[in-house]
Amino acid sequence: MEERICFIREMLREKHLEMWTLEISSRMEKSAGQVRYRRDIYTKKPYDKKIRFSRTFLLSADDDRVIEVVLHEIAHALDVEKRGYSCHDSVWRSILRGLGAKDVGRRYELSDQEVSNRIKNCERKMYVYECPNCKKQSIFYRKLRKRYACGSCSGRVFNPDYELKLKSDAIS
Ligand SMILES: [Zn+2]
Ligand SMILES: [Zn+2]
Repeated sequence: MEERICFIREMLREKHLEMWTLEISSRMEKSAGQVRYRRDIYTKKPYDKKIRFSRTFLLSADDDRVIEVVLHEIAHALDVEKRGYSCHDSVWRSILRGLGAKDVGRRYELSDQEVSNRIKNCERKMYVYECPNCKKQSIFYRKLRKRYACGSCSGRVFNPDYELKLKSDAIS
């Protein structure tokens, strides 16, 4: 645990994000990591910037997953520094790629809360799809033209029981 917190602090220092408050939260259950900030209504400048990780997550996840989540949130923080907001678009993805993250696909799984936080600041349209079985949500940057089944629930053969359903239409 201590080691993991040290790793996060080290990353923040290395990326010049020392002004971000690091919080390890015992109450975070739904998502593993989060960035929070407010924006000045006139200057649009972000302030009160926090990067937060779930204690349960840090205690239980394996190293690869911890690194993945830490890089994910660091990329959001760098993005906020650059643009004043962040969302899962191509700009954020290229920052994440620059950090050496392995999985920078167009599909991203998010918790409900993360979805609602991000879309407030995002100018790009996103479509949230949900698996009717495990309720896992995925974000796509365009509407799906084909039918897709949930990757976690279904096997190789398409099964309509696990077909991803559009949960919310074009959010921008
Ligand atoms: Zn995110
Ligand atoms: Zn599923």
